[in-house]
Amino acid sequence: MASTGAAPETLALAVARERVLEAARPRPAERVPLREARGRALREDVIAPHDLPPFRNTSMDGMAIRSADTRVGRAGGNVVLRVVETIRAGQVASRPVGPGEAMRIMTGAPLPEGADAVAPIEDVVLDSDGGGPRASLGRPVEPGANVRAAGADLKAGERALSRGREISPHDVALLAALGVAEVHVGPRPRVAALSTGDELVPAWAPLRPGAIRDSNLPMLVALLEESGALVGEALRCGDDPGEVADAIVRLLEGADVVITIGGVSAGDFDPVKQALDSVGGISLWRVAMKPGRPQAFGSPRGKLFFGLPGNPASVTCVFEALVRPALRNLQGFSELDRPRLAVRVAEAMESRPGRTDFVRVSLDWREGEWWATPAGPQVSGHVAPQSRAHALLVVPEERVAIERGESAQVLVLRWPSGARS
Ligand code: AMP
Ligand code: MG
Repeated sequence: MASTGAAPETLALAVARERVLEAARPRPAERVPLREARGRALREDVIAPHDLPPFRNTSMDGMAIRSADTRVGRAGGNVVLRVVETIRAGQVASRPVGPGEAMRIMTGAPLPEGADAVAPIEDVVLDSDGGGPRASLGRPVEPGANVRAAGADLKAGERALSRGREISPHDVALLAALGVAEVHVGPRPRVAALSTGDELVPAWAPLRPGAIRDSNLPMLVALLEESGALVGEALRCGDDPGEVADAIVRLLEGADVVITIGGVSAGDFDPVKQALDSVGGISLWRVAMKPGRPQAFGSPRGKLFFGLPGNPASVTCVFEALVRPALRNLQGFSELDRPRLAVRVAEAMESRPGRTDFVRVSLDWREGEWWATPAGPQVSGHVAPQSRAHALLVVPEERVAIERGESAQVLVLRWPSGARS
């Protein structure tokens, strides 16, 4: 099962990304209850169907009053008002507040008609005479004091949330406040993963001579879950091309996206490379990036396929550069990448023109700026530096180096503890 003889084409990262996103167009939205909305891509603009708060209410426990009544007290002496009713949260006053009157009111209760301010309960002395309870106020109250106007938070017809955003717990609160109990969101792509290599054993197995533990598969599963994917099968197989081809074909049946690890280089024993002819619809390509140059990509049988090279740093970088954006685009997120941050470079970094380099860096905050330092040797087979790293620093295609002290962009993988900005 020899692979085709023609050398795979080399693409600029931006071109590869364009092709990937073209193949990973947003899938039709689905409707979910709020309970399942967090972390999903919102696929509709949400317009406030009513004012928030829906009615004028008090922000404090106190006395609902007519502020004009309290102005007479400015010259000195208390204003004494007749307390005619008590309004608790969830209740509505039975009548308006008239001149010389007050109503006891609890936080969140609707302000009665006639009243335009609330005197905090701390500023009120309560007593009673033959005519019933009375409230004495020692100083004037401004119109609107302690009153939350209807629509002060959000007005009916205003845009509450825009399509494409990742729904946060606080977005869930806003949707609930507006009575939006279900939303349209992007479906989670079902993803299957396959790790290839005769040398690989799982984390729980003893190391026989020549073997290493498969660290990429569990990392990939974790990255997939973090990107909103539903991870189905996650398998390991050896370097037999027939076995690899059968596994890919089977995984394509039950998943929207299949991702393999390893076996896409130029070597004679690279099984994914050899399996592709029998699967069909996938090509090898080289992307001008480091690490992660040799890859396979395609849309076999209406699904998506990514063949990642086997080195741990390659998996990390190709995932961030191409796979995450694809998975996020499928879901309909407007933001496809990790958060970007401008940093200063603590050590010079070299690259090659025409190639995008990713450097695993740690971040620290010094004198009002973020500084990026390589998180260890940039050896693509190493696992520890990427655990240590906070971010991937991007050396753009047109740059041959970034000098010490120059600024650069990073993709943040996780925030340093004690982070500041
Ligand atoms: P390959 O792309 O298959 O030639 O693999 C390149 C390097 O990555 C080799 O040193 C492999 O042993 C290593 N490698 C491949 N797959 C994995 C994996 N799943 N976990 C850890 N290392 C791997
Ligand atoms: Mg291999």
